[in-house]
Amino acid sequence: MTRTVYVNGEYLPETEAKISIFDRGFLMADAVYEVTSVLNGKLIDFQGHVARLQRSLAELEMVSPVTMEELLEIHHQLIEKNNLEEGGIYLQVTRGAGADRDFVWPDPEEVKGGIVLFTFAKKITSNKALDEGIKVISVEDLRWGRRDIKTTQLLWPSFAKMKAKKAGATDAWFVEDGYVTEGYANNAYIVKDGVIITRELSNDILHGITRTAILKFAKEAQMQVEERPFTIEEAQNADEAFATSATGFTQPVIEIDGVAVGTGKPGPVSTRLREIYIDEMPKTAL
Ligand code: PLP
Repeated sequence: MTRTVYVNGEYLPETEAKISIFDRGFLMADAVYEVTSVLNGKLIDFQGHVARLQRSLAELEMVSPVTMEELLEIHHQLIEKNNLEEGGIYLQVTRGAGADRDFVWPDPEEVKGGIVLFTFAKKITSNKALDEGIKVISVEDLRWGRRDIKTTQLLWPSFAKMKAKKAGATDAWFVEDGYVTEGYANNAYIVKDGVIITRELSNDILHGITRTAILKFAKEAQMQVEERPFTIEEAQNADEAFATSATGFTQPVIEIDGVAVGTGKPGPVSTRLREIYIDEMPKTAL
C-alpha cells in the first residue's frame, strides 16, 4: 500500500514526496524528531512527545513551522488516511533549506523550518522480541554530548545496531567511562533484589517518554526504583534486564555480551510493567 505522508504543508503519496537538497536536515542532520506509538488508532502519550519536541527545538534555537495544535491534527489526519490501527508516527522538524550549504544557520524569520511525518504499521503489543526477549551487545558510546536532544544524528546508533546484527544480537547498549548510558534507541534498566535500576537523567541520555511513564507506574505499584548508572558486569549479574521505548514499551533483555541475564527468559518485573503500560496508556491516548 502506498502511504500518505505529510511534507511541508501537503499530504502526498509517499512516492511523490520531495524535499530540497539544501534542507539542513539532509545536509547536516540539523533536525530533531519524535516517534509516537499508535494503539487502536490513537496516539500514546502525545503530550509527552510534544513537550520533548518543544524542548529539543528550544535547545537548538529552532522554530517549528506548525503549531502544536496543528501537529496533533496532522497526526490524526495521517492515522485516518492510512487506516493505522497499531504502529507509530515518525515526525521530523528540520531547520529548513538555506540558499546553500552553510555552517551558519539561517534566520528562522527568513527561512521556515521543514517538516515531514509518516506512519508505519507494526505489531507493538505483542511480537517475537517481546515474547522471547532480546540479546544485546555493549558498544562504546561515541555519540555527541547532548544526547538529551532528540536529533537525527543517528550514524553511531546505526553503526551499533549493525554491530549487534553481525554478532547475532538484536540491540546495542552504549557504555561510557565504564557505565551503561542507554540503548541504541531505548533506555536501559536492570532489576536486582526487586529494585529497578536505571541511569539518572542528564545530558548523557535521551529523556525517554516511556521511561517517565514506566517509572511512574513502577512507583505506583510500590516497586523500588533507584536512578543511578550501572556497569555491564552488574547487568550480567542482575535478576533481569529490560529496555524501554515508545514502540518497544518494555522489552526484556535476556542476554548481554553472550551472558544470560537471570533465568535467560523475560523477567516478571518487565512483563508486569508492560502489562500495566498497555492497560493504562490507552486511557489518556488522543
Ligand atoms: N534513548 C534513545 C537514544 C532513543 O533513541 C530512544 C527512542 O528513540 C529512547 C531512549 C527511548 O525514548 P522514548 O521512550 O521516548 O521512545
